[in-house]
Amino acid sequence: KLRVVVVGGVAGGASAAARVKRLNENADVVVFEKGSDVSFSNCGLPYYLSGTVEDSEDLIMMTPTAFRKKHDIDVRVHSEVVSIDREKKTVTVRSTETGETYEQPYDKLVLSPGANPIVPPALKGADRENVFTIRNVRDIVALKTFLDKPETKRVFVVGGGFIGIEAAENLQLAGKDVTLAELSGQILQPFDEDMVQILHKELDDHGVKLLLHTNVQAITEQGVTVERNGAQETYSADAVVLAIGVFPETKLAAAAGLEIGKTGAIHVNENYQTNDPDIYAVGDAIEVYDPQTHVWRKLALAGPAQFEARAAADHICGITSPNHGFAGALCLRVFGQNAAAVGISEALAARSGLHADSVLIFPGDKVGIMPDWHYMSLKLIFERPTGLILGAQAIGEGDVVGRMNVIAAMIRMHATVYDLKDMTLCYSPVYSTAKDPVNQAALVAINVLEGQLRQVHVSEARSLVESGAYIVDVREEGEYAEGHLVGSHNIPLTQLRARMEEIPKDVPVYLHCRSSQRSYYALCCLRGHGYHNLTNISGSFLGISLY
Ligand code: FAD
Repeated sequence: KLRVVVVGGVAGGASAAARVKRLNENADVVVFEKGSDVSFSNCGLPYYLSGTVEDSEDLIMMTPTAFRKKHDIDVRVHSEVVSIDREKKTVTVRSTETGETYEQPYDKLVLSPGANPIVPPALKGADRENVFTIRNVRDIVALKTFLDKPETKRVFVVGGGFIGIEAAENLQLAGKDVTLAELSGQILQPFDEDMVQILHKELDDHGVKLLLHTNVQAITEQGVTVERNGAQETYSADAVVLAIGVFPETKLAAAAGLEIGKTGAIHVNENYQTNDPDIYAVGDAIEVYDPQTHVWRKLALAGPAQFEARAAADHICGITSPNHGFAGALCLRVFGQNAAAVGISEALAARSGLHADSVLIFPGDKVGIMPDWHYMSLKLIFERPTGLILGAQAIGEGDVVGRMNVIAAMIRMHATVYDLKDMTLCYSPVYSTAKDPVNQAALVAINVLEGQLRQVHVSEARSLVESGAYIVDVREEGEYAEGHLVGSHNIPLTQLRARMEEIPKDVPVYLHCRSSQRSYYALCCLRGHGYHNLTNISGSFLGISLY
């Protein structure tokens, strides 16, 4: 009988165990979990704070009894694997309830111990009883119990990654007074700075006090002391949530002499084997190959953990489904905005030495006659001159995730903006536009790549204004009156042909409108009338309002 031991009973561990059993009914599969629950929804944890998930029991997908009954898998909770003897092929297990230890033999061992929330040792007060991290059901129940005390009114969240943002949203929905501090100048690093401004505003509009460039220094009786703009400030807080990232759990692997990569995570080969071929590792604890930037990196996402687990189980059972690495893909809701980012950001592309360019458009998510249509902001990042799609980000009240999933699939297939232009996607006015927003983004990108459209990014608008550039705003007069770039000349597209002589031919002309669509039409018109030095301001007025 094949003996398979799995360490960790949640996303990766439970998936690996179940797949081994499906492929080999005779296998003897034992899962050790040091916590009290297995197979729970980590991703659902923040939603318990707001009551969106009403009962903490609903966060638990499968119990040890269900594993035994449905799959004949032996799941042992409160059981920590404390060491691996690779010679004897045994693990030592310690009961977290009684402290007793025993040995368990294995033929194949799968490590899926996850990642621990980072708690900086130097952070004074991190061990106070009102300071929480979120990793498992027990953590979230402890936090919720504390929040339910009537005196817990002000909650300070440290960290603007997706766990911090989801926690802040749900705490606010639970009626708490929420402050969120982030060390860098923006939340959610997978989004570019221009796009993420929408989410900064959304947090602000919903009463979450967002503190950027803010370094949390200490947590005391008085609250949270931070360093901000070179000064020290203290914010009173009844509870503090630390969400400053996670770090791979590698203690067990390192002590057993398994290779730890430069990233600090367990290194595996294309079959998820460690440097011991009988020991596999998957999930947040391993480093993965990024096929876009060609580096190994940490990736703490549930989908990849489950795919990795399945592939490891397949290999154990003689099926090869090799690992090609993972591109990034992330989505979340921030109050009324849905946000998704796939592939790499423009900032990461630049840091990786890629020759990237981008377009930013504001299409409707469905046809404008539908009562529930919404604009979305969609950024497409591509390589010059090949047009290879590198990444995309979309934020809006409507369906942005479906759009980003199309692009995630195209990234996996190494597709270009030309392929994206040719994608035939489902259309009905109820769901989309005849040219889906992703097709539209591809068309604009092709115009840029082929020189049909010269553009500057909206982030450069301020310096254009300061340098006295000749900017033509082609929006209607009423729109212009509501707000415009200082010094810009208002010639609406509808009057352009009649008033063209007002625009000089001997200076560079920048065209500008609400979404950069009318300005593009104006550019084409002027070009046809002998103007040569024309540039569209990409992102236009809607983009400017992001800042
Ligand atoms: P885990 O699921 O963390 O499981 C590891 C388990 O191993 C733990 O229960 C731990 O107790 C146990 N363990 C560790 N060491 C030992 C040992 N020595 N002996 C026995 N047991 C041990 N991902 C997304 O893709 N989308 C989301 O929306 C999303 N939201 C999230 C929200 C929150 C609050 C959190 C915490 C995570 C979220 N994630 C999300 C990330 C996702 O949950 C993880 O990537 C995924 O769970 C990783 O799976 P894993 O098996 O590697 O680790």
